[in-house]
Amino acid sequence: MNGAKANPYTIVDSTRAKSLWMGLSATIRVCGSSSAICVLEIVIFKTMKTTLADKYFSLFIRIRDAHDGYIGACSTCGRIGNIKNMDCGHFIKRQFSAARFHEQNCHLQCKTCNNFLQGNDNKFKDYITKKHGEKTVLLLEASRRQSVKRTTNDLIQLADYYKKKAIELAKEKGIEIW
Ligand SMILES: [Zn+2]
Repeated sequence: MNGAKANPYTIVDSTRAKSLWMGLSATIRVCGSSSAICVLEIVIFKTMKTTLADKYFSLFIRIRDAHDGYIGACSTCGRIGNIKNMDCGHFIKRQFSAARFHEQNCHLQCKTCNNFLQGNDNKFKDYITKKHGEKTVLLLEASRRQSVKRTTNDLIQLADYYKKKAIELAKEKGIEIW
C-alpha cells in the first residue's frame, strides 16, 4: 500500500489519555503543582498537536481512497460520496494508538458506517482482509495490546508528514486541499 513502509509512526506510542497524563506529570515536576496555567497550556498544546496529526492523516487517507476527483466509495457499504463529506474510518479504533496512524487500518467511510454503525466492523474486517490479507488483520487486531508512547514532537512530525503527503497526492490527482 502507498507509503505504508515510509511511515515511521505506524506502530508506536501510547493512548491519548496516557500522553496527556505524561505531559501533565512532566509539567508538574517542572513548574510545581501551583502552576495551573502552565499545566493547562501544555495539555492544550499536546491535544492540539494530536488533533492536527489526526486532521492531516484523515485528509491523506480520504484523498488516497478517492477514485475520481473528490468521489470515493465507502469501504464498508460501497456508498458513493464526496470525500470532503466522508470520514477516515479506523478498523481498530483511535483509542488504540498503535494503529491510530496505520495506513492499512484506515479507509474511506461514509458517516453512517463510521458513526451510526460504529465503524461497521464486520464489513470493515472483510474489506481489509480482501485488500491487505488476513495476516494484516491479525497484526492490526494484535496492536490493541501494544503499549506505545507518542511525544508532542512525534505528533508535530506526524502532522507535517501527512500534510505534505496529502498535498502531494492531491496535486497528483488534480484536486485542491480543503
Ligand atoms: Zn458506508
